[in-house]
Amino acid sequence: MRYLLSTLLTVVLLSGGELSAPEKSLLTPIAADTIKGHVSFLASDAMEGRDTPSRGLEIAGEYIASQFRRFGLEPAGDEGYFQNAPYIQVTQPMDQFQVTLDAGGKVWKAVPASVMLTSATAVSLAGADVVKVSLPDENAPLPARELVEGKAVILVAPGRTRAMMTRRDAVLALGPSVVVMAGFVFSSGPRLMESRVEGAPRRAPLVVTSDPDFAKFVTDLPEGATPAKLTAKLQAAVDQPIKLKNVIAKLPGSDPKLADSYILLTAHYDHVGVSSRGEGDRINNGANDDASGVATVLSLAEAFARLPQRPKRTIVFMTYFGEEKGLFGSRYYASHPVFPLAKTIANLNFEHMGRTDDNEGPRVGKITASGFDYTTLGDVLTEAGLVTGVEAWKHEKNSDLFFARSDNQALADAGVPALTVAVAWIFPDYHRPGDEWAKLDYANMEKVLRTCAVTVSRIANDEKAPAWVESNPKVDKYVKAWKALHAGH
Ligand SMILES: [Zn+2]
Repeated sequence: MRYLLSTLLTVVLLSGGELSAPEKSLLTPIAADTIKGHVSFLASDAMEGRDTPSRGLEIAGEYIASQFRRFGLEPAGDEGYFQNAPYIQVTQPMDQFQVTLDAGGKVWKAVPASVMLTSATAVSLAGADVVKVSLPDENAPLPARELVEGKAVILVAPGRTRAMMTRRDAVLALGPSVVVMAGFVFSSGPRLMESRVEGAPRRAPLVVTSDPDFAKFVTDLPEGATPAKLTAKLQAAVDQPIKLKNVIAKLPGSDPKLADSYILLTAHYDHVGVSSRGEGDRINNGANDDASGVATVLSLAEAFARLPQRPKRTIVFMTYFGEEKGLFGSRYYASHPVFPLAKTIANLNFEHMGRTDDNEGPRVGKITASGFDYTTLGDVLTEAGLVTGVEAWKHEKNSDLFFARSDNQALADAGVPALTVAVAWIFPDYHRPGDEWAKLDYANMEKVLRTCAVTVSRIANDEKAPAWVESNPKVDKYVKAWKALHAGH
């Protein structure tokens, strides 16, 4: 609090609420019609909701690269502006699937519709010995390898916490022929995963079933070796290699000392594709989520590229694939960074920048952020708001709650001071076909994007790098990561 008050005072004294001349020239290219042009193309029906992977996503990526090219920015990927990420799409055939358990005439037969199967190899078993392993909580000891190796294992491990998943994976690594367990079954379309490492050991096949009769069958079995026998036929999953792409450009810094430090401006260019059910065209256009964030990155890229005098630090403009699948693009970047993370001083991620009709009420002339008071970035945003006529504010609940819900999280986990800037949190057409470009408030967007430009300009020209606010206990793990990143520097 003391820090905030003193900086506010400094700003009032030094700037008198005025923009500097370079800041004024920075803001000139940021215009409502240009922003509308970007959003209306990216969120058009022709992009088919920009699912990861899809043809629409590829076209959107090409559009973003073409804009970076137009601004004369330097490519920063491994193939021009593209950072190629090798992924595989895993499809699990089920047409010959069969799993039957038999305990002295008492039989349970798996129904494919209530099963989720993960099997890298084909498996055929007839009358295999069954071992029952119970892990009532995450501290329960793992079974001895001799007990489960080569056996069919019925695993009783309730709960879906990360710790329980890790225990389950540990059992799969002990060499059973198959593991069958009760659990939640969601739609079993193709899954995306990073390419398998050559020669890495493959996990045992896993059968998860939501059938309540399975639990009844299992209850009567003794712990450890059981009289039950398992017969199974599982097909091997089919891996299809695909290339996903982050799109990255840079504007090199002008200061010989600070040019080797980086500010990341990011947004995700994917969305959730076309719904399988529902009214109308079922295309989830993703105009506010997150074509508006991409348009923000593009508008800031153009503004900084047009400056006669480049900022002191290097600014990186980046759009991610796969946010909606679970932060895939940003996680990929954090584990394959183009610029050293230890030299990456800040990440401003942008989401939901266009809609002002937040479910909780109108948000005209306002800007907010997740992790608003986790780093000193929130203070810079507040100061920039003062000179551009926009009120920066912290949402009592959402600013903390949404920190883990976007790509800022991937960089924060690596220790980089990061936040996601937004105008609205949740809005009426969120993740629905109604999230269309005509519903965004472009005049307001122009105004808040100017606030963002001033924010970035001040960070880029300040010798002092942004920092985590260590007095906030919620950032302990990020401070730890930051220290690990800078150990030895
Ligand atoms: Zn989003």
